[in-house]
Amino acid sequence: MLVTLLGTGDTTGTPTVGCDCETCETARERNIERTRFSVHIENDRTGESLLIDFSPDFRYQFLRDGVSLPDAAIVTHIHFDHLDGLGNVFRLVDSLDIYAADETDPVTGKSVAETVQSDYDYLSPIEVHPTTPYDPIRICGFDVTLVPVVHPPLVCYGVVVEDPETGAKLSVTGDTNYEIPDLSREVFADPDLLLADGIVPAALCDHHPIGGCHENADGVPRTFGTKHMTREGALELADELGAKRTRLVHIAHYYSADEAFEEPLAIDGEQYQLS
Ligand SMILES: [Zn+2]
Ligand SMILES: [Zn+2]
Ligand SMILES: [Zn+2]
Repeated sequence: MLVTLLGTGDTTGTPTVGCDCETCETARERNIERTRFSVHIENDRTGESLLIDFSPDFRYQFLRDGVSLPDAAIVTHIHFDHLDGLGNVFRLVDSLDIYAADETDPVTGKSVAETVQSDYDYLSPIEVHPTTPYDPIRICGFDVTLVPVVHPPLVCYGVVVEDPETGAKLSVTGDTNYEIPDLSREVFADPDLLLADGIVPAALCDHHPIGGCHENADGVPRTFGTKHMTREGALELADELGAKRTRLVHIAHYYSADEAFEEPLAIDGEQYQLS
């Protein structure tokens, strides 16, 4: 299993358009970037590729990193930075299987699968497969499970990808706060690689209009606002899950320049071979 981090940024990315903060300026100087979220997973046994989320930066990411076009894809939720790149596959693929959750979101009245289907009705190559969370299905030779997480107000899912031949396991939290249900934590547990939403350091919660929540015993917020984990929350989750290796993703430019490019914060283009 070859995992390529195509997009490791939050919804504005780093550098952010029009921003001259020290973090964005440092990224420009060092030629580092965090485009909008996407992960590419190649099955080196079958040659197939699975994509998690359609970044608005899809075209640029595939050109930059030279990875193969996906045979199948998962959409974790319907936010712009995860879904709105799907139109990029137009005239690139003859067929594309897309898997998304089948549970009705009380906010939209539709499941993620239904929203993908109705928003991209014009894309004839795609076939949307409504998928039941917690039930593993075989995609591109992997066992893939959608894992409910907490990203108010919308439904959202993390993803577990396991290779049934090698036992390699990738867990991706998706966009989530720290309050992930126990059953989901069990499904995420013991990954070879964990990609965890760690959008900002906990200290930034002072600058969020509603602050942070899900504080640990030392009073450190593990959730930023209501939607995302802090760095501290993501690292505590990693510990609890027993992750062999952890990369923080969905990173905002609000990390200060001296910590924004330090371990274990991911940058675009990182690759991991899991076996
Ligand atoms: Zn900036
Ligand atoms: Zn989101
Ligand atoms: Zn997002």
